[in-house]
Amino acid sequence: MEAVLVNKIIPFSCVDGFGNRTAIFLQGCNQDCQYCHNPETIHLCTHCGACVAVCPAGALSLAKGKVVYDPGKCCGCDSCLKACANDSSPKTQQMTAGMVYGRIQGYFPFIDGITTSGGECALYPGFLTKLYRMVKERGKTTYMDTNGQVPLWDFKELLTVTDQTMIDLKAGTKEDHLRLTGRSHELPVENILRMAEIGKLYEIRTVVVPDIVDNRKTVELGSGLISGYPQVRYKLIKYRHYGVRKAFSNIREPSDEMMEELRRAAVSKGVKEVVIV
Ligand code: SF4
Ligand code: SF4
Repeated sequence: MEAVLVNKIIPFSCVDGFGNRTAIFLQGCNQDCQYCHNPETIHLCTHCGACVAVCPAGALSLAKGKVVYDPGKCCGCDSCLKACANDSSPKTQQMTAGMVYGRIQGYFPFIDGITTSGGECALYPGFLTKLYRMVKERGKTTYMDTNGQVPLWDFKELLTVTDQTMIDLKAGTKEDHLRLTGRSHELPVENILRMAEIGKLYEIRTVVVPDIVDNRKTVELGSGLISGYPQVRYKLIKYRHYGVRKAFSNIREPSDEMMEELRRAAVSKGVKEVVIV
């Protein structure tokens, strides 16, 4: 069975789709957004060992050239993440879909479903298909939080067990998207359209970040894509400094007025529900 690196599991989350959900974060991403709020999920660990020395709890060690993590000893100080120059984490765990299911099934009486995120969870369609199938057999829903940089419509089997997707639209022009993430926006745009068309798009998400991209253009593009689908929400996320890499920590945060102006722009383009967080 395919095993993937799991960065973390949050038992209960009310910001990752409908209702109360267990959120599962997978390691590894195919974008490198300047403002990434969890940059330790971007790359796979190279086992350089730099984080082992800074761990105050003895939770990290090197064995046969690999970093070994002992969650039982970890105090959650995140010194290892700060010491990693590779945008990675030593606290990941290799898990199959069955192992993840075993870890989360105790939460089922209290949740509406699960959401997989990352990193970029859609890089692991085989794993997702197996996990989603097991979760749906228990009557829970499956949501995929994705940057849209893989052609989701190709994963036919996965889509049969995916209830909803939540897709990022990082920027409204190719140039802005490239500058911000290292990749163009064509695939996210096509995924948004195709998932909306088959009724599997819960929301699109834009992080509003002044000075780097033209936020108005992003919102106008996103609104145009979903305005024909009244059930699809537009979530506008206020960029905040929390968790970002030092090199990007001086990016200006948007004002409340700017967020409201963008909300009005989305509504004027026909979007029925705009959420600002
Ligand atoms: S998590 Fe980072 S610092 Fe630690 S071993 Fe892996 S690459 Fe090196
Ligand atoms: S968060 Fe990292 S550095 Fe801190 S105790 Fe856990 S493994 Fe060690």
